[in-house]
Amino acid sequence: MQTNVIQIDHPVIQTKLTELRDFATEHRKFRALLNEIGSLMVYEVTRDWPTTARPIQTPLERMTGQVLSRKVTLVPILRAGLGMAEGVLRLLPDARMGHLGVYRDEKTLEPISYYQKLPPDIAETEVLLIDPMLATGGSGSAAVTLLKKAGVLSMKFVCLVAAPEGIQALHQQHPEVPIYCAAIDRQLNAKGYILPGLGDAGDRIFGT
Ligand code: URA
Repeated sequence: MQTNVIQIDHPVIQTKLTELRDFATEHRKFRALLNEIGSLMVYEVTRDWPTTARPIQTPLERMTGQVLSRKVTLVPILRAGLGMAEGVLRLLPDARMGHLGVYRDEKTLEPISYYQKLPPDIAETEVLLIDPMLATGGSGSAAVTLLKKAGVLSMKFVCLVAAPEGIQALHQQHPEVPIYCAAIDRQLNAKGYILPGLGDAGDRIFGT
């Protein structure tokens, strides 16, 4: 049991994840499944977000309901994060979207940041940083560092599959950032792919 890692092992999510991992699943179905899992994960990821009382009038009487207190920003890490963020956005349609472009140098596996566009008031929002694969943790850690520089105080890392190495690397630098995932896989291979994993998430989403 790892601290600050929440594995969402709901049977519906696990079923969809198994279909998604299958080599025979082509990009149209892969995309749909990834978005569905993203939507389903929202329930658990947002469970502890604060709410504020809002008085309303129902057709029958006045009552006080609860609504999310803070604005939300989704930040997918390009490009695979886009494929999962859509599903999260479906459940949080008022969220803003920032984008971070971080890629891994194929030789060194080091993260290289090449694009950053964030909402100006991101510091006052709840941020979900989204990348389906937490592999070496290099891009994830670099993205968290960029968000901290932008003033973000409250963020969660949302992924589909995490490698133990990635969890360790991210938490070594950013232990306070909770990691939400649907699975913790066995290990990385020499090329930084997660085993058993699902292959290259970006390629499988975009059919490249
Ligand atoms: N990125 C992917 O898309 N897949 C992996 O297995 C590791 C990193």
